[in-house]
Amino acid sequence: MTTSERLRNWAGNHTYPASVVHRPRTVEQVQELVAASSRVRAVGSRHSFNDLVDSPALVSLDALPALHDLDPASGTVRVGAAVRYGELAAHLHARGWALHNLASLPHISVAGAVATATHGSGDRSANLATAVTGLELVTADGSLLTLTRADAELAGAVVGLGALGVVTALTLEIEPTYDVVQEVHTGLPWWAVLDDVDAVLGSADSVSLFTDWRGESVAQVWRKSRVPLAVTPFAAHGAVAASTDQHPLAGGDAASTTAQLGVAGPWHERLPHFRMDFVPSAGAELQSEYFVDRREAGAAIEAVRRLGERLAPVLLVSEVRSVAADELWLSMAHGRDSVGLHFTWKPLQEEVDALLPAVEGALAPYAARPHWGKLFFDADRSLARVYPRLDDFRALAARLDPEGTFRNSFLDRHVLGAAG
Ligand SMILES: Cc1cc2nc3c(=O)[nH]c(=O)nc-3n(C[C@H](O)[C@H](O)[C@H](O)COP(=O)(O)OP(=O)(O)OC[C@H]3O[C@@H](n4cnc5c(N)ncnc54)[C@H](O)[C@@H]3O)c2cc1C
Repeated sequence: MTTSERLRNWAGNHTYPASVVHRPRTVEQVQELVAASSRVRAVGSRHSFNDLVDSPALVSLDALPALHDLDPASGTVRVGAAVRYGELAAHLHARGWALHNLASLPHISVAGAVATATHGSGDRSANLATAVTGLELVTADGSLLTLTRADAELAGAVVGLGALGVVTALTLEIEPTYDVVQEVHTGLPWWAVLDDVDAVLGSADSVSLFTDWRGESVAQVWRKSRVPLAVTPFAAHGAVAASTDQHPLAGGDAASTTAQLGVAGPWHERLPHFRMDFVPSAGAELQSEYFVDRREAGAAIEAVRRLGERLAPVLLVSEVRSVAADELWLSMAHGRDSVGLHFTWKPLQEEVDALLPAVEGALAPYAARPHWGKLFFDADRSLARVYPRLDDFRALAARLDPEGTFRNSFLDRHVLGAAG
């Protein structure tokens, strides 16, 4: 089916310029469509905040079969590209299986999340794309390319930004299902964080620090741990264990957040902060996020704290999380254990745009990598310096998409360079 609707992203800050949206029902239809298109790009669940998706025509994969092909022998599941993590997680858990991690929200599509290196949190937990063992991709000439871990290019294609083709299905590594407990402390002093960032971020399987960067303490510390693994004792330094469920945003309704208070529950009902059947986060917001080498996290945090008073009028909340290193070419955690400094902004596009250069200036000494799906500025087009495999990615894109079917101005600006 093809419609002439004009889609907007989830945040509503960006209307896609595409005049048509195709919804093929079979992989063969995707192949025919791509082969016949001069410009087309895939769209997922539209949770990105920038113009990464843009193309004169979009293809949504949500009419393709969800698949859910579970293979206990290989410990994998094969899913359709548009399947959302929340739906996949419930399916897996009901059959005794789990994923290694989830993002803060379960609403995002697997293909879209993986394409932008979406991450959860945890010193030993790499981003969601690292679970991909196989990728089925319709490339520009309409052929179907299947990559597995036996192919060196899989590491380049997984975080593909939609630049290499239209992913129709992915195979993900799974593991036996597990339970998680989550607890929140309020008022952890900044000195305790900066004194030993590793101890704080390593005090549970997943740790999130929520702050507005002002004042002398972190507003909330969310800690998630698998049971029955031992939870590292938390040196609270005066922080207080919350006695009711919390929302990361001041004044937010905790009914939309996953259960806390140390009550054990299935992994997919604890690892995201937000429940599937509620609007995640604030709803009306913009987001940015920057990743630095974990060893420089303390200095990077201090650099952002110095901007605290400037950021506060535009900020809803910030979140600091750790992500394990991986080898995916365009992953924000490529080659380095990382800490993500995330900003949930008020929906004030001009004010956010005006602040981003200051944030990026403060983080420039730490070779910060911006989240591909969130707002960033990249004034001096310097991402080539922070992605050692970017030239390899450009070569792969040139080979799989010689005519630029999947190119757009975002890719030209930040990734591929101006089209020749
Ligand atoms: C409230 C909220 C909370 C968030 N929390 C987190 C978080 O905890 N961690 C985090 O890392 N990010 C987070 N994000 C960002 C989000 O995970 C990314 O923007 C992600 O890309 C969204 O997936 P999507 O399906 O909406 O992709 P879209 O925004 O639709 O598309 C993103 C990219 O994926 C490509 N793409 C989509 N489908 C396909 C396909 N089938 N084939 C090829 N390319 C495809 C698109 O072309 C585009 O390049 C959050 C976003 C929101 C709105």
